[in-house]
Amino acid sequence: MQGLRDTAHVNISPAALGVLETIEHAGFEAWLVGGCVRDALIGRNRGDVDLATSATWQQVQQACTAAGMAVHETGTAHGTVTVVNDGEVVEVTTYRIDGDYRDARHPESVQFTSSIVEDLARRDFTINAMAWHPARGLLDPFGGSTDLDAGVIRAVGNPDQRFEEDALRILRAVRFASQLGFSIDPATAAGMNAHVGSLAHISVERVLVELEALLLGDAARSVLMDYPQVIDAVLPELTPMRGLDQRTPYHVYDVMEHTAYVVEHSPATPLVRWAALFHDSGKPDAFFVDDTGRGHFYGHAIVSVDIAREALGRLKMNHALLEQILLLVRYHDKAIKPAPKFVKRTLRLLGDDPELFEALCDLKRADSLAHAPEHQAGVEKSAQLRDCLHEVLDQEQAFALKHLAIDGTDVIDAGVAKGPAIGEVLEQVLEAVISDEVPNERDALLAFVRTLTAERP
Ligand code: ATP
Ligand code: MG
Repeated sequence: MQGLRDTAHVNISPAALGVLETIEHAGFEAWLVGGCVRDALIGRNRGDVDLATSATWQQVQQACTAAGMAVHETGTAHGTVTVVNDGEVVEVTTYRIDGDYRDARHPESVQFTSSIVEDLARRDFTINAMAWHPARGLLDPFGGSTDLDAGVIRAVGNPDQRFEEDALRILRAVRFASQLGFSIDPATAAGMNAHVGSLAHISVERVLVELEALLLGDAARSVLMDYPQVIDAVLPELTPMRGLDQRTPYHVYDVMEHTAYVVEHSPATPLVRWAALFHDSGKPDAFFVDDTGRGHFYGHAIVSVDIAREALGRLKMNHALLEQILLLVRYHDKAIKPAPKFVKRTLRLLGDDPELFEALCDLKRADSLAHAPEHQAGVEKSAQLRDCLHEVLDQEQAFALKHLAIDGTDVIDAGVAKGPAIGEVLEQVLEAVISDEVPNERDALLAFVRTLTAERP
């Protein structure tokens, strides 16, 4: 068998192998293919198993149903069914060759074939174009295993043609580069750059999925820096950040490089990493140089919010997540003293959400780590802020209207007319509690409300 290598360490679940054996017992050929083979070879095991087979989807359905497995018709037009064995999900697809492509994404037609090698040839990258079988070993007609060892992403066949067929592959390449820490073969990268214009045909939902996976990858920083033509084709907002010299002693990097480091230093969650990507996007617009030649960016956070809203709105980001990202961008450089009353006031600005406050601490820490080495005091400050937040939470200190020992009814009973005035009074009460002017006790609060109503016209 060509391309055989020691695959004794390949670890595929018995349930997935059971599906493969069932199909082969029925007289067909089946292989594990694609991402699960790639990941098994580098010990990056995840649940997601794909099988390719010479059987039609109806034959797969018949064999697997007879063996007591559940079979779902998830993509029969492309020859795919989903088999569930022992609770494990396996996608099974008939060997196929894709027909001519239309609109830089979808094949006009699919054609089924009896050849696994032909099926592998339609796949995007050599590391994704290997098949593995527990008895027959590794089938690697395009040198995927060598590329996997060398850490290279290389298109199967002619890169130019492959990216012309399907522009989504351009984003998949940078996404895999970030997730695996791989480089992209120069000819493949050239093919990608030649077709970035076609990314406009890819649905924004797919673009967002690939970008987010890229952003969460371990090598996000270098990928953001190394493939500007690709990244900026879908996020043109980043272009003005590239090469912008900040002209301040706080920074050793240009705005984009600083941003890429902040992404790297952020925990790998969509919330903090997206906020990191956009936190300084308003700097190019807000930039001005004073008489001494020093750069300033007053008010850049507000500009960054507008830019992030526009970019992520265009990509149809989930609304609730978008709003949280915008709050982090808005307050990323807010000076917050590590004392309970300032922490509680900030919690108000963050929709009373302690988790969002933690995320803000994460972002501030990452931002500080990406400053010049002698200007990283923010790392310590963000730790103090976090400690202070925990103190507020552990002591169950009031920071939201719902924590007050009185509510709107009490305010009405104290003689305040129904309407917006109720909320205004409660806000004043909460501020008095937060700043320790009044204890959060019912009688004390009612007395405080009476002093307020006496003042009100
Ligand atoms: P992951 O599951 O981590 O995203 P994967 O490689 O399994 O990685 P999938 O999208 O699950 O990616 O696709 C499974 C396989 O199908 C790939 O490994 C590849 O062989 C093939 N493939 C997927 N998308 C494309 C595409 N746009 N062009 C060509 N082949 C593709
Ligand atoms: Mg997969």
